[in-house]
Amino acid sequence: MMHSQERKASEGILRLAIQRMAAHPAAFIPCTYAVWYEYILGVNPGLNAEMNQLLQSRKQIDDETIMRLYQSHVPDSKGESSRKIREGMKIMLGKLLDVTEESNKHAQAFGDSLLTFSSKLQANPDPAALENLTTKMASDTEFMRGSVSSLYSELKISKEEVARLQTELQSARQEALIDPLTGVYNRRGFEIQVKSLLADSARVSAGACLLLLDIDRFKTINDTYGHIFGDKVIRTLASTLKSIVKGQDSVCRMGGEEFAILLPETGLSGASKVAEHIRKSIETGKIKSPTSDVQIDSVTVSIGIAAYVAGDNMIKWLDQADKALYISKESGRNKVTEYEEPGSC
Ligand code: GH3
Ligand code: MG
Ligand code: MG
Repeated sequence: MMHSQERKASEGILRLAIQRMAAHPAAFIPCTYAVWYEYILGVNPGLNAEMNQLLQSRKQIDDETIMRLYQSHVPDSKGESSRKIREGMKIMLGKLLDVTEESNKHAQAFGDSLLTFSSKLQANPDPAALENLTTKMASDTEFMRGSVSSLYSELKISKEEVARLQTELQSARQEALIDPLTGVYNRRGFEIQVKSLLADSARVSAGACLLLLDIDRFKTINDTYGHIFGDKVIRTLASTLKSIVKGQDSVCRMGGEEFAILLPETGLSGASKVAEHIRKSIETGKIKSPTSDVQIDSVTVSIGIAAYVAGDNMIKWLDQADKALYISKESGRNKVTEYEEPGSC
């Protein structure tokens, strides 16, 4: 049931993508398809914002624009899985073109044969010749029917292939947004989450907070217990964060031992409670030493909080959370700090 619904949805997207492709001059190549596919799916706010601007100013989407949009907005556009999908699309589109050309030739030949039939019929309508001509027409018609039927089956296969490639493209896209060590969003995933939140005015007006979290003295943990243990600490932290936050919140590994947590529809007091809960859970959480059964108890985190200010962009929001994090570090670590505008009291 689920499968057939997904298939129906992907066929709808396919149809819309092809309509869009046909209305613009960019070549019918996999990159063009991938850009329109992402646009119609609406999961890529950056791409949609730029494309909407281009469409509103009635710009024709040509090859150059497609390549620019593809490289700057389609995740994993330079990656291996994406290359494979592009190859698959290329082969499939090439095959479809061959079969369509072949069928077109047959249709022309059939058209010629019909014309000959009609002129012979007018010139010599005697019963014997008529029988010959009818037999010939029946065989030509049968041949044409075969050609149309093989075009139809090739189109059917291609449609299924496009749906399969779409699914692959979507999972490659998804993978490109996930940090492999922890399974939470990576920096790119974070950016997409923030951009889609900021693009939704109803969600923005409900308030949102950002937590930036950094493990304290992590270098010492690595130096004391080794890198593999350091990785284990990062993984444990990520799963603690995931278990604390609610469904609509996003946990993201921004790099190294730094995490961001996006809390939509949350005000400063709610975000402070979440941050304090996280700080305490990490402080009291136990991780075993890799070399003995001894629990190490020195893992703590510092956290900075910034509430979203209407009209600000992502960079500014991040910068405010980073400033608050810096104050937590400076004031002794294992702390939570809310960002305050300079000059406010
Ligand atoms: P502070 O309290 O000021 O944050 O001190 P710190 O030691 O945590 O900060 P610093 O930025 O000096 O060190 C971060 C360390 O994190 C350095 C680097 O070796 C380590 N690190 C970064 N990424 C990884 C990773 O993926 N795995 C492991 N094991 N260590 C990492
Ligand atoms: Mg650190
Ligand atoms: Mg750090």
